[in-house]
Amino acid sequence: MKYCMQCGSEYQDGVAECADCPGSALVDAETMNQRHIPLPGESDTRKFVRAATAEDPFTAEDYVRLLEIQNIPVFMRPRRAGVVDVLTTGALEPWYEIMVGEEYLERAVQLLAQEKRQLDDTSEDAALAAEEEERETESSVPPGAP
Ligand SMILES: [Zn+2]
Repeated sequence: MKYCMQCGSEYQDGVAECADCPGSALVDAETMNQRHIPLPGESDTRKFVRAATAEDPFTAEDYVRLLEIQNIPVFMRPRRAGVVDVLTTGALEPWYEIMVGEEYLERAVQLLAQEKRQLDDTSEDAALAAEEEERETESSVPPGAP
């Protein structure tokens, strides 16, 4: 069996080109797995989408752990600099995609945004929180009053 790299359709070995995607390459299942393209049958159980990217494996692992704790289906996918990346994005640094189940995307993005803020400026946040506390104790107007 061969599969279209564009749409994932399954073809007999003799077929040279996908009927739906002119010019797209047909490859074997192993190649599809290497490229993390779901095969027909796999794709209708769960679709994974990119929730975030990380520039180093430690951040990526941190993100994955965070989402696993929330029971969100997640895996990270290394995207190393290679011919394809250089051609399409010009990126030379390795980076990582954080892939989550499609139905969890919104929640994952929110969680990762929170986490990123914390990673980026933990000290700044602490300073802001202290300031806020000060303002609240000084102010006689209850929060939410006009
Ligand atoms: Zn196709």
